[in-house]
Amino acid sequence: EVRESKNFIEQAVEADLASGRFEGVFTRFPPEPNGYLHIGHAKSICLNFGLAKTYGGTCNLRFDDTNPVKEDVEYVESIMEDIRWLGFEWDSLHYASDYFDQLYTWAEKLITEGHAYICDLSAEETREYRGSLTAPGRNSPHRDRSVEENLKLFRGMRDGEYPDGARTLRAKIDMASPNINMRDPVMYRILRATHHRTADKWCIYPTYDWTHGQSDSIEGISFSICTLEFENHRPLYNWYCEKLGIHNPRQIEFAKLKLSTLMMGKRHMLRMVKEGFVSGWDDPRMPTIRGYRRRGYTPESLRSFCADIGIAKFPGTIDVVRLENAVRDHLNEAASRRMAVLDPLKLTITNWPDGHVEMTEATNNPQDPSSGSRQLAFSGSMWIEQEDFREEAPRKFFRLKKGGAVRLRAGYIVDCHDVVKDADGKVVEVLCTYDPESKSGEDTSGRKVKGTIHWVDATHSKEVEVRLYDRLFTVEDPSVCEEGQTFVDHLNPDSLTVIKAHVEPELAEAPIGERVQFERLGYFIVDQDSTPNTRVFNRIVTLRDTWGK
Ligand code: ATP
Ligand code: MG
Ligand code: MG
Repeated sequence: EVRESKNFIEQAVEADLASGRFEGVFTRFPPEPNGYLHIGHAKSICLNFGLAKTYGGTCNLRFDDTNPVKEDVEYVESIMEDIRWLGFEWDSLHYASDYFDQLYTWAEKLITEGHAYICDLSAEETREYRGSLTAPGRNSPHRDRSVEENLKLFRGMRDGEYPDGARTLRAKIDMASPNINMRDPVMYRILRATHHRTADKWCIYPTYDWTHGQSDSIEGISFSICTLEFENHRPLYNWYCEKLGIHNPRQIEFAKLKLSTLMMGKRHMLRMVKEGFVSGWDDPRMPTIRGYRRRGYTPESLRSFCADIGIAKFPGTIDVVRLENAVRDHLNEAASRRMAVLDPLKLTITNWPDGHVEMTEATNNPQDPSSGSRQLAFSGSMWIEQEDFREEAPRKFFRLKKGGAVRLRAGYIVDCHDVVKDADGKVVEVLCTYDPESKSGEDTSGRKVKGTIHWVDATHSKEVEVRLYDRLFTVEDPSVCEEGQTFVDHLNPDSLTVIKAHVEPELAEAPIGERVQFERLGYFIVDQDSTPNTRVFNRIVTLRDTWGK
């Protein structure tokens, strides 16, 4: 992929390399292990790993695990798996919790140098003293404790002498700062919780701000890329590095990815899973990386989508159709064509020789000549789509109608002369003759027909389960709700339809994870729920964007 101009992050990186501020591009992806990764994280992963690759640097994976209450190894493992599935490998693996000892030592250093103090205000009082955007904060009554007293109390906090929430360690900066993050931010809190890595070693935990920059610094990160909500934290990030006299990375912010029709905050996704609106974190309708994976999206398509949308400095919404188009584009190149009938109608060729079966040749992928072709049995008794037949149809209907002709893909031209109806007058069978001179690839009939439809042979096809997935929400922005409603009120009641379909015989043995195009219908993947007796296919995406049409 060649882009004409550099985005603003690349420009900043190149300026800092040119000026000698940094010697290379060292980045990290820093997830908190408190949930599964979503498509927004994929954007951040592509950005961080991508920059390192472009400039010959490195990218670390660092778990930002400072909140033991919400974190779990289950998430650590899923995050690593998802990053690898996307096609990236970290240079080294770290945990912020590996730095707890160092952070503690640095906290004592700040205390000793008069830059931090122990505060006995409750969480609520601390908030109240902090003031607001329009009102300056007030100094804590404990702000002027001596270094000796602060050190003694801090060690007491570490040694478990006080109950949870009784005291905090705060940086001594400026309670009148226009930036609220600079109003004596909390560095440590007392919290008796078992950490997934350090177990019960600590009963004080560092805050995000007191952890993130120093973790970057320890790892020699040059560019610490994060999302816009941390812009106001940047002065604090730099203040800690300066006061400690340690390597100071450059924090650069970009806008979070937001996609139309999706809800991707962990909190919202958790609710959908917990309340059973979806089958789990990997439900093919979820915006998680594992949801897309199970749905059938390819890593290539997620990466090309992320590259294609670029980096934004300001919040905005990307149309989800662009993501759907990314997987269409990739599978158009990569997926073999197969025939499947989802809504079957019987078609019988009345002049077909009794008991005769012959083979026809079908191209696997016109986009990829190396993919070759396959042989399909043709016995004169077929399934076609209900939709492809009308007893009476307008002139522009180029599929099959009574008195009309159509080509059966990779087969013959057939002429419909009659139908069979049930007691209610519904057409249950279409009767045709075939033109023996018209076989695809060896057509000498000289006839031209406007339409080609897909089919499967009724005596050779197999039955499979097909899960027709559609969008989970019906509106552009599910977070916008009327009073008394929440985003779940926008759920699409038809986001999953399960049907039986007739398919080419080989598809009944296709391996789990295989992706194909069902001709004229869309792209499908064999789901993990398949059994030796029943294949299950998930619809990845239709061939064209038909939403709302
Ligand atoms: P959420 O609550 O939506 O899961 P988060 O920001 O709490 O998001 P983290 O685990 O802290 O999740 O994120 C890890 C990295 O991914 C961070 O650098 C964060 O900025 C980035 N990130 C998270 N969401 C998005 C998004 N929608 N677009 C781009 N980057 C994102
Ligand atoms: Mg976070
Ligand atoms: Mg979060």
